[in-house]
Amino acid sequence: MFVQTHEIRRRFLDHFVRAGHTEVPSASLILADPNLLFVNAGMVQFVPYFLGQQTPPFSTATSVQKCVRTLDIENVGITTRHNTFFQMAGNFSFGDYFKRGAIELAWSLLTKPVADGGYGFDPEKLWVTVYLDDDEAEQIWLALGVPSERIQRRGMADNYWSMGIPGPCGPCSEIYFDRGPEYGRDGGPEADEDRYLEIWNLVFMQNERGEGRGKDNFEILGPLPKKNIDTGMGVERVAFLLQGVDNVYETDLLRPIITKAEELTGKSYGVNHADDVRFRVIADHARSAAMLIADGVNPGNDGRGYVLRRLLRRIVRSARLLGAERPVMAEFVKIVSDLMAPSYPELGTDFRRIENVSVGEETAFLKTLSTGTKLFDETVDEVRTTGGKRISGTDAFTLHDTYGFPIDLTLEMAAEAGLEVDEAGFRELMAEQRQRAKEDAQSRKHAHADLTIYKEFVDRGPTEFTGFDELTSEATV
Ligand code: ATP
Ligand code: MG
Ligand code: MG
Ligand code: MG
Repeated sequence: MFVQTHEIRRRFLDHFVRAGHTEVPSASLILADPNLLFVNAGMVQFVPYFLGQQTPPFSTATSVQKCVRTLDIENVGITTRHNTFFQMAGNFSFGDYFKRGAIELAWSLLTKPVADGGYGFDPEKLWVTVYLDDDEAEQIWLALGVPSERIQRRGMADNYWSMGIPGPCGPCSEIYFDRGPEYGRDGGPEADEDRYLEIWNLVFMQNERGEGRGKDNFEILGPLPKKNIDTGMGVERVAFLLQGVDNVYETDLLRPIITKAEELTGKSYGVNHADDVRFRVIADHARSAAMLIADGVNPGNDGRGYVLRRLLRRIVRSARLLGAERPVMAEFVKIVSDLMAPSYPELGTDFRRIENVSVGEETAFLKTLSTGTKLFDETVDEVRTTGGKRISGTDAFTLHDTYGFPIDLTLEMAAEAGLEVDEAGFRELMAEQRQRAKEDAQSRKHAHADLTIYKEFVDRGPTEFTGFDELTSEATV
């Protein structure tokens, strides 16, 4: 029997509690900080301790934090390893142990046999990275028996952490698992991050960051008076490896959603790539949507609500493209609730609300789709009667702008009807609309009453609103 995701999560906490850490529950995905769209790393709830603004009630802690990363939305279903919602397991030291402690604790959990409460990874398949000048970390890995051939040095962009603003910063060391030559090129994580799967990031907060820009262009000031540890391990990624499946979407908490989607659509998973991506998107997004609603997000036209709306609409769209003719949402959220409630009881206790919110959004979107589909069919007839082969950019734009019909759907349906779409023309019209909206915004004081602006905001999507999310989510925990 493989190791279940709930068990992987539990083993992590137990390992660190045995080593004296205080177990801290996950924070909500939504924190009061308006700059942070969603909690995207385990360290977020501990930021005031790391910044020295508050004194922690413990010197070491462990948690499994609910995370949402909107930056990864386009990767979902396409890479083997990116979820929008995932669980980040972490251990934290506030001026207690430092590099040696963090490295040894991570290594022992990863390599301890499954029968003894560990994850039982073959040490020969693990690779590690260290920051360019971090000889200290390298020495610790060597002492644990990791040969120098499997230790790589990486620069600022990959292996140096900060919050993007003056404050604590420091080198990282990451742990990767080699899935084998059938998954890509030799040469370690530096050569191929698909074959070498990143599972754990250890951050050594040891310096103070000065002014500068972004992830890799800033001044490093002197050492911090108190050094801290912040780590993040992807629970879904460990499950992916321990369960011997091909990707995170086929692990025990996500694969049953794919099975449900197979039932509802009549299509099978594992037959063709385009369909498989849709199945994986459904599984990933159904879970993220349910977790976000559980934490109080409602679908809307901006910020967090817009992200949720986009996730829910992508589920509906993907299911329809797979052949679903009837509503699907109630069944998806039910199965997510059954799967997630053992670790997150709010998914069970708050189920009715989660169901109402998600099904309400589906109903509204299906209406949009049906009006749009009528217009789409008329357009196709018109193109055909005039002997054309292509839907004009203007028609695609009208479908989008007036009927809220997403361009991907127009493209898909056009392909099914044997027609092309003037996508470049469509994009041009979108750009013009954005430009008009910008000019309007400048000439109006009360931009929020202007529907063109509002439309632009929706079209542009949530990436504009990530703020802190964007600064902290890549190559950091
Ligand atoms: P990647 O390079 O694969 O995108 P990352 O470097 O952005 O990952 P970190 O910010 O270092 O990830 O986060 C710590 C850990 O959280 C990662 O080592 C990984 O195990 C896990 N993780 C990060 N992003 C995701 C995701 N989108 N889905 C699932 N697990 C994730
Ligand atoms: Mg990433
Ligand atoms: Mg990383
Ligand atoms: Mg990375």
